[in-house]
Amino acid sequence: MMTRMLRFILAALSAVPCLAMQAVAAAPAAALPARGAWLERTEAIMGTRVYVELWSQDRAKGNAAIDAVMAEMRRIDALMSHYKPESQLSQINARANREPVQVDRELFDLIKLSTHYSEITAGAFDITYASVGYLYDYPRHVHPTEAQIQQALPAVNWRHMLLDEQHHTVRFEHPGMRIDLGGIGKGYAVDRGVEILRARGIKHAVVTAGGDSRILGDHMGRPWLVAIRHPDDPHKVVTRIPLSDIAMSTSGDYERYFDENGVRYHHIIDPRTGHSASKVRSATILAPTATQTDGMSKTAFVLGPEKTLEIINRMPEYDAVFVRPDGRVLYSNGLRPPAPRPAGAPPATPTAVSPRVTP
Ligand code: ADP
Ligand code: MG
Repeated sequence: MMTRMLRFILAALSAVPCLAMQAVAAAPAAALPARGAWLERTEAIMGTRVYVELWSQDRAKGNAAIDAVMAEMRRIDALMSHYKPESQLSQINARANREPVQVDRELFDLIKLSTHYSEITAGAFDITYASVGYLYDYPRHVHPTEAQIQQALPAVNWRHMLLDEQHHTVRFEHPGMRIDLGGIGKGYAVDRGVEILRARGIKHAVVTAGGDSRILGDHMGRPWLVAIRHPDDPHKVVTRIPLSDIAMSTSGDYERYFDENGVRYHHIIDPRTGHSASKVRSATILAPTATQTDGMSKTAFVLGPEKTLEIINRMPEYDAVFVRPDGRVLYSNGLRPPAPRPAGAPPATPTAVSPRVTP
């Protein structure tokens, strides 16, 4: 999917200054349709920052569209939050050890989909990580002892979840099991937000929840320029990627963490060990939907960048950028910057570049 054209653009854009997510260059004022405007809003939902920006010809309709996206995020949070005791997800955690718990089709389907990501990531993505994950409290600098981890660890295994497709029930086969959709719910919510905007006729937008974003259309004829931050310095940029009509998730060990005796305890857990997974510092995944990118963005922390690249490179819809602990940046095949041209080689064919994205 990330064609040679994108590789070329990547190289061509390396000099463009960028903060976080911006258009490659402002479109000339004369090209803008009359009366339209970019509208944006940020709200705190799902324990994170939700951001919507869109182009609308009509300010009232644009704002109503943003209202609808925010309402959808709150609805999903009420259904799936593990912080809210009344949510259906909390009902599963409270009762599925004893009996099958029936939930809405929507939640059932997302739980089922999460097992698909467990399968393609060799278990690196596993929503039952929560059986040990709940023993961590990052703001309070709490982590479990090794003995506590060993006691909880046998409950971490997505294969111990019994999913009844017909009755949409969830039953845990092992005592002490819990699930948490923190690793896929925001991507799903972003996709729902984009569907809502699309149904209302919006053609240019960005929807973000935490580390998960999706771009609808482009930035009025130009791609958005998305920056991947340095793991240790939010103001430093590791790389920039021009993107349109695509989803992107970044997971990092700098999001929710504390350091103790030289060890970083952070929110991505290796389901095999119960410890924070530290094989990369950050992982960015690109794919058509944010559910897909969210489902894959934890993998490199657990399996390591090389093994994860093997998986990503086998799936044509996906691309990835990983920052390794030594600071090196690895790209999937579709994003790798072009090799230096050998001396005397003919110049690159300009047909590889869309004239719209040339800064
Ligand atoms: P964000 O919530 O900002 O989008 P991530 O996409 O990186 O961040 O997701 C991190 C969250 O994923 C953690 O807070 C936790 O809820 C969940 N999680 C942690 N480890 C795993 C794992 N091995 N498999 C599935 N989900 C996980
Ligand atoms: Mg995410």
